[in-house]
Amino acid sequence: MASVLVVEDNPANMKLITLLLTKADHTVLSAVDAETGLILARAERPDLILMDIQLPGMDGLAATALLKKDPTTAAIPVIALTAMAMKEDQVKSEIAGCDAYIAKPLRHQEMYAAVDTLLAKAELRSEADPVAQPT
Ligand code: MN
Repeated sequence: MASVLVVEDNPANMKLITLLLTKADHTVLSAVDAETGLILARAERPDLILMDIQLPGMDGLAATALLKKDPTTAAIPVIALTAMAMKEDQVKSEIAGCDAYIAKPLRHQEMYAAVDTLLAKAELRSEADPVAQPT
C-alpha cells in the first residue's frame, strides 16, 4: 500500500484512476491542477505521482520539472499521463524528468504495471539508502 498523488483535470479520468488505485489498496490524494498538485506533493510527499500532461494553467511537464528540481520531492517517481497519439508528449515527458508514461485512454493493466514497477524501484532505493527515506 502506497500513497499516490493524482494530478488530473478530467473528472472521468480522475474517477477511474482513483477507483483503480483504491482497489489496489493505495491511498489517493488528488489535485485538479498543477499548482495544487505541487503544494500537495511538497506537503504530503506521496510515494508516487500520476501527472496529466495537459492541465489548465501550468502543464504537467512544467510541474514535473519543478518537482524534480526540488530536493523535497525530487525522489518521488512521476508517471506522466499522455494522449495516445502524442509521441511528442512522451519524448517531452522524459525530458521533463518523468520516470514513466501511460498513454490515454487508460488501460488498467498498463497502469497497474507502471505503478507497481515504480513503487518497487522506489522501495529498493530507499532500502539501499535509508537516509533518503521519506518520513
Ligand atoms: Mn488534462
